[in-house]
Amino acid sequence: MTVSPHFEFRDGVLHAEDTPLSHLANQFGTPLYVYSRQALHDAWEAYRIATRGRDVLVCFGMKANSNLAVLNEFRKLGSGFDIVSGGELARVLAVGGDPSKIVFSGVGKQVWEMQAALKAGVKCFNIESEAELARLSDVAQQSGAIARISMRVNPDVDAQTHPYISTGLKENKFGIAIETAVAVYQHAATLPNIEIVGVDCHIGSQITEISPYLDALDKLIVLIKILADKGIELKHLDLGGGIGIRYTDETLLSPTVLLDKVFQALDAHGLSHLQLVLEPGRSLVGNSGVLLTTVEYLKHGDVKNFAIVDAAMNDLIRPTLYDAWHSVEAVVPRKNAACARVYDIVGPICESGDWLARDRSLRLEQGDVLAIMSAGAYAFTMASQYNTRPRAAEIMVDGSNAHVVRPRETLESLFATETTLE
Ligand SMILES: *Cc1c(COP(=O)(O)O)cnc(C)c1O
Repeated sequence: MTVSPHFEFRDGVLHAEDTPLSHLANQFGTPLYVYSRQALHDAWEAYRIATRGRDVLVCFGMKANSNLAVLNEFRKLGSGFDIVSGGELARVLAVGGDPSKIVFSGVGKQVWEMQAALKAGVKCFNIESEAELARLSDVAQQSGAIARISMRVNPDVDAQTHPYISTGLKENKFGIAIETAVAVYQHAATLPNIEIVGVDCHIGSQITEISPYLDALDKLIVLIKILADKGIELKHLDLGGGIGIRYTDETLLSPTVLLDKVFQALDAHGLSHLQLVLEPGRSLVGNSGVLLTTVEYLKHGDVKNFAIVDAAMNDLIRPTLYDAWHSVEAVVPRKNAACARVYDIVGPICESGDWLARDRSLRLEQGDVLAIMSAGAYAFTMASQYNTRPRAAEIMVDGSNAHVVRPRETLESLFATETTLE
C-alpha cells in the first residue's frame, strides 16, 4: 500500500496513474518530480464535498507547489489562491487566476507587492502587524485605491506540530496578538483607504488534530462578537490552511469532519452569514507527487549502509529541515532477499545534513530507481541550486500521458547572467 491511490504498484512496477514510473525515469532522467493530475482533482474534491453548498472559498496555499500547471488545474476547479509574495501573485495572474479570489498573507509585504496586489484587485490583504497596516494605508492612499483587509490574529493555540511549522503561538512571528486585535481593528476603521472585510488565522502546518482548529475558532468567534458590538461587521472568517497529509501512518483529519464542526459553531453563534475562507496547501498537493531518484552507489559499512542517490537536500529539504519522514519505494522492487539491508538514503551534496531518509529496509542494487513519496508539497518550491545542481524537471501525468510542465534546468542557465571582473 502506498500513500495515494494514484501511485500504486501494477505488475511489480510503481505507476503514476496509468504511467510506469520506470518509463518516466528512463525518458526524462532523474531526479524527477512527477505529479498526478487526478490526485490533484481528488484532493480538491474532498474540500468541495466538505463545503456542503455553503459559502466557502478555498484559496490554495500555493507556496506548497506553485508550478503553473498545478495552479491552472486548481483555477479551473474554481480555487482561489493564498499568496505570500508579489512573485506568487504574478504566477496566479499568469494562469488567468481571478484576483477577487486571492488573499495575500505574509509578515513582510513590501511596497511594490502591495501596489501590485492593489492594482490586480485582490480579495484582501491579511494584515500581520500594525506597522503593515500603516504602510498599506499609505500605499492605498497614494494609489487612490481601497485596500480590503482582514487581520491575521494569533490565537495562541498549540497546533501540536513541528516547531518550524507551528505558527499560532505567542512566540511566533505571525499575526497580531488576539488581545490587541480589537484596538487595531478600531484604528483600521478610521483609515479612509482601508476597508475591513474579515479576520484570519493560520496556526500551523501538518496538523492532524481537530482541537487546535476548534480552539482557534472559539477565540475568533469571541473577537467577531466584540467587533460587532463596536460596529465593525465582518464578511468572512479565514481559518488558514494546515491540514496534514499521510506521510506514513498519520490519522487523517478530513475536511468534512473539520468543516462540519466549524459550520456547527458558526450556526450556534448566529454567524452562518459569514463566508468561510480556507488556505490549504499541503493537503491539496502533498500526496499528488513523488520525487524519482536513481541509486548511484551503495556503500556498506560496519555501522551504516548508505544508498547514495542522485537527488539531494537541494531537491527535497524537508527531511533535514523538519526531520520529516518520507516513505521510500523501489520503483521496481527486487525479489532477491539476499540484497535486503537497512539504508540511509543520502545525496551527493557536501553536507552531513544531506539525507532524504534514514534506516529504511530496502533491497537495492546500483542503478535502481527509488520514489520518494509525498513530494508534491514543499519539495520543488523549496528546491535550490546548491552545489550548482540544476533544479529537476517536473512532469504532470494524466492517465498514460506525461507532460513536461517544467524542463530540467540546463547547466549553462545556472550561471548565464553572472559576470567576472577585469
Ligand atoms: C503556508 C501557509 C498556508 C498553507 O499551509 P499548509 O500547511 O500547506 O496547508 C496557508 N496560509 C498561510 C498564511 C501560510 O503561510
